[in-house]
Amino acid sequence: MPGKMNALVLRGPGDFEFEEAAAPECPPAGLLVKVLACGLCGSDLRTLYSGRKGMSYPWIIGHEVSAEIVQTGAAYRGPYKPGGVLAVAPVVYCGACDFCMEGRFEFCDNIRELAQHWQGGFAEYMPIPPEALAHGVIRPLPAGLDPVYAAAAEPLSSCLHAQERGRTGRGDTVVVIGCGPIGCAHTTIAKARGAARIIAADVSSERLEMCRGFGADALVNSASEDLTGAVLRRTDGKGADVIITANPVPETQVQAVEMARKSGRILLFGGLPPHDSKPGIDTNIVHYRGLELIGTTTFAPRHHKTALDMITNGSFPVGKFVTHVLPLEKAKDGIGLAKEGKALKVVFKP
Ligand SMILES: [Zn+2]
Ligand SMILES: [Zn+2]
Repeated sequence: MPGKMNALVLRGPGDFEFEEAAAPECPPAGLLVKVLACGLCGSDLRTLYSGRKGMSYPWIIGHEVSAEIVQTGAAYRGPYKPGGVLAVAPVVYCGACDFCMEGRFEFCDNIRELAQHWQGGFAEYMPIPPEALAHGVIRPLPAGLDPVYAAAAEPLSSCLHAQERGRTGRGDTVVVIGCGPIGCAHTTIAKARGAARIIAADVSSERLEMCRGFGADALVNSASEDLTGAVLRRTDGKGADVIITANPVPETQVQAVEMARKSGRILLFGGLPPHDSKPGIDTNIVHYRGLELIGTTTFAPRHHKTALDMITNGSFPVGKFVTHVLPLEKAKDGIGLAKEGKALKVVFKP
């Protein structure tokens, strides 16, 4: 088996190189896979430059993975065989907590992730531990689906979960604040769930332009126009039914509350910087207008299945979503593009 491989090795915050690393061993009851494609996530950018709590170095991240099985462990007794191709999402549920017992995996108390507790996919090879096979989100790649496109299923899954909780539905006016990959995914999902009108906002005209192909009906550049005023004007002063904050800017959460229609749902999708997470929301507005503030993160297996279905059947414009496919040795170029907001989804091929 491999011994050595090429990988993007992270040595500390801001310190990473494409270099030779030891290839992982096949876990005795798990699988060893060859990574075919691995998407670059916004959370990866944070980890690359700021590290992550509890992280040990050197480490390999990358969690939006499509991969081919190269070896099954000696004690592995499952259905997979070498040569099989898998869509691998990173979450691993415990299967034993109250939430898991109720089938509400997205709230698992002991959730772990590939690329955090086990080595990730910015590498030629990656171990799939038995825990991920028993209680993770791994399924065969749908026939005919490009592995590069399957890597988009993970971010899409989190967005599907959020809008399930926000109950986006027929006739709704939806505002998406932030037109990065997550905002674009939310726009398409809102449309698929029947939203009548989607207003997408960003401070970058480049990003707004990229969001156009995902189903937005109106684009607002919030650097040059007051966003709350723009939404109220477009809704006869009533406000929006669902507002999704797909960005890390505290002020947008304040605005989201101010532009909500009575009984509106506000999906706090983007986390805020830890030192700046008390944005000063007027909770009297929440109270008197009967608003719902909904925090959402991660997803359950059902969301990942729907995401793969949407990518496979063409209801999600994945070809517009994946803007850059690069060999892993060009990782630094792709990371730069994503950091500057010049790319939506960057996918690496080791
Ligand atoms: Zn991700
Ligand atoms: Zn659990």
